[in-house]
Amino acid sequence: MVSDSDPLVLNGKTIATAMRNEVGEQVARLVADGGRRPKLVAVLVGDDPASSTYVASKARACEKTGMDGQSLVLPADTDAATLRQHLQRLNDDDRVDGILLQLPLPKHLDEQPFLELIRADKDVDGFHPENVGRLWLDQEALTPATPTGVIELLQRYNIELQGRHAVIVGRSHIVGKPMAALLLRQNCTVTLCHSRTRDLKAECRRADLLVAAIGRPGFITPEHVKEGAVVIDVGINRLTDRTQLEALFPNNPQRLASFDKRGSAVVGDVDYHRVAPLCSAITPVPGGVGRLTVAQLLVNTLAASLRRQGRSTAGL
Ligand code: NDP
Repeated sequence: MVSDSDPLVLNGKTIATAMRNEVGEQVARLVADGGRRPKLVAVLVGDDPASSTYVASKARACEKTGMDGQSLVLPADTDAATLRQHLQRLNDDDRVDGILLQLPLPKHLDEQPFLELIRADKDVDGFHPENVGRLWLDQEALTPATPTGVIELLQRYNIELQGRHAVIVGRSHIVGKPMAALLLRQNCTVTLCHSRTRDLKAECRRADLLVAAIGRPGFITPEHVKEGAVVIDVGINRLTDRTQLEALFPNNPQRLASFDKRGSAVVGDVDYHRVAPLCSAITPVPGGVGRLTVAQLLVNTLAASLRRQGRSTAGL
């Protein structure tokens, strides 16, 4: 059965704009009050165009809120010792509040030791084992931007979480697992699914809140969704096959025209066209969760800076 009313479309863009504006106001207050301007440094190794654009956009987003944002771009053949030195220098620099290392690193560099080298109190991505542990222990921590942004979105739309059954598909360190911890904190009952889950559709149909973080275009179909569920689509998948897009979005000339202009289209992990009519609320792609990640990164940078300056983070 399909619900009689249209689902509430959760607008990540609007929420992200509000979050950025609030960060801007807090930065202005901090500086007016004699505080130091927060500073983020995004480190990129190599010249992958998508990563370069992303790193530059994070630095720019910082600048727009009044924080200092810098990107440090190192050559693709940077060796481990040199990268270590750069990260150590940023760790030791008191003016730097947030350090993020853009992933993936080139193949010759093992990521984990570098993620562990970044000081936990400057780890605005929330990937350091100390922050991961603190998250699961319900202690104050910097938590990964994407799932933290999802919680912010749900809260700002007043979506009740307490006591509800949340099912997450995907168990990565950057989305699925921290999403589980954050939803537990909100008193959800949490099921974490992955590629070895038996009868995934049945697990998903138990969800009041279904979070898809899989990396497969349109994977979540109506058979995965209970009527009235809230569906959060974290997936960002670039399609270059027009037929695939047409199958996912039939009778959608706007999407096809945009594809024809760019030669590709971004779609989520949820078959939006078929799933949306079943839901009480759903995030679109684009315009949903993707927008929140950078906004939450700004909040994390501000939080790191406030703590390092001995100031309160209440209200963040
Ligand atoms: P990963 O590839 O690290 O993880 C994918 C997860 O999906 C794995 O846990 C995997 O299971 C699970 N999975 C894969 N296939 C299936 C299947 N057939 N059935 C059930 N589970 C399956 O991806 P990420 O977590 O990094 O990203 C997920 C998606 O979110 C991607 O589209 C990515 O682009 C997007 N993303 C969006 C962000 C944003 O800002 N909105 C930020 C980060 C990611 P297993 O562990 O068993 O292999």
